[in-house]
Amino acid sequence: MKNRTITIASEALRFVFSCTLLGACLMVPSAWAQSTDLSACMAKLLPAARTGKVTDATWARHTAGLQADFSVIEKLNFQPEFRTAIWDYMSALVDDERVADGAARLSEQRPALVRAEQRFGVDPATVVAVWGVESNFGQTFGKYPLVQALGTLSCHGRRQSFFQGEFFAVLRILQAGHIAPERLVGSWAGAFGHTQFMPTTFERLAVDFDGDGRADLMDSSVDALGSTANFLARAGWQSGLPWGIEVKLPTGISLAGEGRRTKRPVADWAARGVRRTDGSALPESLGSVGLLMLAGANGPVFLVTRNFDALYSYNAAESYGLAIAHLSDRLRGASPFATPWPTDDAGLSRAERRELQGLLVMRGHDIGPVDGMLGDQSREAIRAEQKRLGMEVNARGGQKILKALRGG
Ligand code: CA
Repeated sequence: MKNRTITIASEALRFVFSCTLLGACLMVPSAWAQSTDLSACMAKLLPAARTGKVTDATWARHTAGLQADFSVIEKLNFQPEFRTAIWDYMSALVDDERVADGAARLSEQRPALVRAEQRFGVDPATVVAVWGVESNFGQTFGKYPLVQALGTLSCHGRRQSFFQGEFFAVLRILQAGHIAPERLVGSWAGAFGHTQFMPTTFERLAVDFDGDGRADLMDSSVDALGSTANFLARAGWQSGLPWGIEVKLPTGISLAGEGRRTKRPVADWAARGVRRTDGSALPESLGSVGLLMLAGANGPVFLVTRNFDALYSYNAAESYGLAIAHLSDRLRGASPFATPWPTDDAGLSRAERRELQGLLVMRGHDIGPVDGMLGDQSREAIRAEQKRLGMEVNARGGQKILKALRGG
């Protein structure tokens, strides 16, 4: 497929002002000044694509006339100035709405989930929790046409050789007919579908679990569930082993050198006075466990098994692994964490975020769509309201600003 989403703006020659501390300003061309034409770069990549088993017909079909989308380079170079607190991250990813949606999916997809557990040894709640965190159960796939995004990243910016590998993989996926070209959209960096696999991950681990001959992670939730279970099995998931448990530390325990990767027998932790949050003994069935502490010793603290490491490997972030782990527990009927996060201004669920956005709109702020995502415009409006109300000005959407605006 040729991609024709060239904007006028991306073809125009733009300039940015680069100013030194001494006040001297130069007008320099920005990334936008570069040509969107990728044909010279594609000609250079063709031999490597051939070596990578992309046929000339596939290459011609998908790269002829391909134009760069420089917005993906801006994403690649983006440095967030606003660091999300773990309690904000968790309260939006694992809220009552996602638990209810997950419970509905568990029931709807029961036959496929039971089959996935039989074949790969990963339980339904864990598979559904990954699905919920990755794509909100198939509702959020990303909007970037993948051939264009990965073609651009193969020719511009940092890590071109990494993205070339993903670009050739995406072309092989199209060549094999797994997914229709016009359906293949995803994140700016190339992750796509219900499970947000990168193309090379797809090639290693995607399975055709509904038996139609194609592994279609865009349009078959059954294929996606089987592929997720396969991913976790290959990452070392051990059937029947919990991911871990929340624990209570004794006062004065030395935690020097402890971490998720430093696994010790449960009995060692018990001997040092670590207990479950209700004060009862640690279950020996956990085997060997490491320490996971994302907000210091005064926040929720966990002992985690090798199965947590399998969840971690999905996205290489401990906060991300904990979101999946916790959602899976909630889907099994567990309560929220026993220990509150160490903050006096707890995070907001997506429903509360939408309510906060509605209150900001009522006060005349232009924040874009009321979508439960607190982006730059929402944060600017929060900042203005915090200033007006004499609160701490941090542009963060938490319980304090929500309660203040509810009160008028
Ligand atoms: Ca299939």
